[in-house]
Amino acid sequence: MKVFISADLEGISGVVHNDQTSSEGKDYGRARSLMTGEVNAAVEGALAAGASYVLVNDSHGSMRNILIEDVHPGAVLITGTGKPLQMVQGIDSSFQAAFFVGYHARMGAGGVLNHTISGASVANIWVNGTLVGETGINAMVAGYYGVPVVLVTGDQYLAAEARQLMPWVNAVEVKQATGRYSAACLPPARARELVKEGAARALAGLGSARPLVTGSPVTVKLQLRDTGQADGAARFPGVMVVDPLTVSYTGRDYLEAFRALRSMIAMSAT
Ligand SMILES: [Zn+2]
Repeated sequence: MKVFISADLEGISGVVHNDQTSSEGKDYGRARSLMTGEVNAAVEGALAAGASYVLVNDSHGSMRNILIEDVHPGAVLITGTGKPLQMVQGIDSSFQAAFFVGYHARMGAGGVLNHTISGASVANIWVNGTLVGETGINAMVAGYYGVPVVLVTGDQYLAAEARQLMPWVNAVEVKQATGRYSAACLPPARARELVKEGAARALAGLGSARPLVTGSPVTVKLQLRDTGQADGAARFPGVMVVDPLTVSYTGRDYLEAFRALRSMIAMSAT
């Protein structure tokens, strides 16, 4: 059994502020260590449940956060940027299950450091009419390859968002958000226990999980935060302008729509 892990930082217990998530932040070093520990807990749970191969993709910011010198020897780490599939680089149809560790809720949904891909430019994203955050956007890439997401970890807003989209998912709440920049956090030892148990439970229940898929063709709609950003996104070939803040793109399948979405977001930052 092959297990894929996409690891973000905002949903890790103890992380509540940009000082921890930005590589220039004064608390970034501690956050990287906390992230590495929670990812290792998910790896341990996967191995305990029978995984023969665990691939971890570092998915936050520079995508060079996880401390490889401390990574569980049973895993392989993808580190660095410029990856076509971004937060889900490495996934393909040879995997049986995916975990999203340290994830956060979509922009505006509440919870610690909620945002969707780019806090500076993205207001909302819809896929075939469904409002989605990073969980849905990336779960549908996994779904394109036939891989179900069976574990997510983060705060209670992330858990609710994931359960709504994927009722079969095991959602481990390692913290309870009390605002955008605060949360009641479990100490790392306890958070890691819960993540490890959740990972093993998720793989034991794999039979009731299914890949998250959407019908074809696939229309992604992207609402930016200002009209200049929408002007930038509209330069991507094939884009329709919906209104001064919103653009859309229709692809033959989800992978094409996803790649267009990520490109439009990159072009909006001008
Ligand atoms: Zn992140």
